[in-house]
Amino acid sequence: MTRSVLVITLQTVGRRRWIQELTKAAEQMLWGSLVAVYRRCGKPTCRCATGEKHGPAWYLSQREAGRTKMRFVPSDQLEAVRRGVAAFQRYRELGQRLAAENLTRLQRGRRRGRRAR
Ligand SMILES: [Zn+2]
Repeated sequence: MTRSVLVITLQTVGRRRWIQELTKAAEQMLWGSLVAVYRRCGKPTCRCATGEKHGPAWYLSQREAGRTKMRFVPSDQLEAVRRGVAAFQRYRELGQRLAAENLTRLQRGRRRGRRAR
């Protein structure tokens, strides 16, 4: 096996792994960011009136067309939402990596006068 064939094979293996990872991330990803909210309840005698506020209450904050939607996250879903948000970051990272590699392949193919596969 020549060196260049070996490099291309390694790239192909990496690429397949990225695509597998991207698919896995896609299955659990959630869009938005987790936000902790601390509040005062409004009762003048409550400790929160002068001291520590209530919370945190967790929300999935989604910004769309200049508006922010805050979706309440029940505590029993907090970990799943945290994983979902992290999965979206991973999905985006892998997508950018693949897009960059696709461009490199396209340009490499053009220089060699053949289609890169
Ligand atoms: Zn209170």
